[in-house]
Amino acid sequence: MHIVIIGNGIAGNTAALTIKRGNPEVSLTLISEENCPLYSPCVLPHYLAGAIDRNRVFLEGIESYSGEGIRIILGEKAENIDVRNKEVSLLSQVIPYDKLVIATGSKVIIPPIDGLNKEGIFTLKSLGDADRLCHWSGKEAVVIGSGFIGIEVAVALKKEVIRFI
Ligand SMILES: Cc1cc2nc3c(=O)[nH]c(=O)nc-3n(C[C@H](O)[C@H](O)[C@H](O)COP(=O)(O)OP(=O)(O)OC[C@H]3O[C@@H](n4cnc5c(N)ncnc54)[C@H](O)[C@@H]3O)c2cc1C
Repeated sequence: MHIVIIGNGIAGNTAALTIKRGNPEVSLTLISEENCPLYSPCVLPHYLAGAIDRNRVFLEGIESYSGEGIRIILGEKAENIDVRNKEVSLLSQVIPYDKLVIATGSKVIIPPIDGLNKEGIFTLKSLGDADRLCHWSGKEAVVIGSGFIGIEVAVALKKEVIRFI
């Protein structure tokens, strides 16, 4: 039995750990387009605010599991799924599966507002997004979206500005 999981967020990683703990004999492949181990998006605003170091966003997951038959492919996107032949295509290879778990999370919605494709426009969904924001050297920010992530980002950016004044 070979199980392929697409997505190394908390859903994909927990699925991998749970499957492996319950069925150690199963062979498992975990694919993530992000080139980093499991991390918590929930603490990204704290990283942005400088309240925690970057290495503290990472969580212990399947990557540190010592069992046999685990293959982790980071930095490669699943480009196509052939359900008839039970294969997942990456740019570099085709991976056959008996069972497939899709745990690819959600996507950021960028509203159709003119100018949102210019330099200095950010989203905050992934660690890559947070890294880009952390390297931004601007001193004024506008946050569009006042859900809990927008509010957390505004508070984090305000702290950052205060820290450097
Ligand atoms: C800033 C922020 C703060 C948050 N705070 C909280 C909080 O306080 N409490 C709370 O409960 N939730 C919070 N959330 C939400 C929570 O992080 C998400 O609900 C959770 O991360 C979803 O996990 P997931 O595994 O389903 O998806 P994701 O974490 O999105 O993981 C999906 C993974 O799949 C990968 N992927 C996608 N497509 C492909 C593909 N084609 N091929 C290969 N890999 C692919 C992605 O790169 C990603 O690594 C927050 C989110 C953010 C962004």
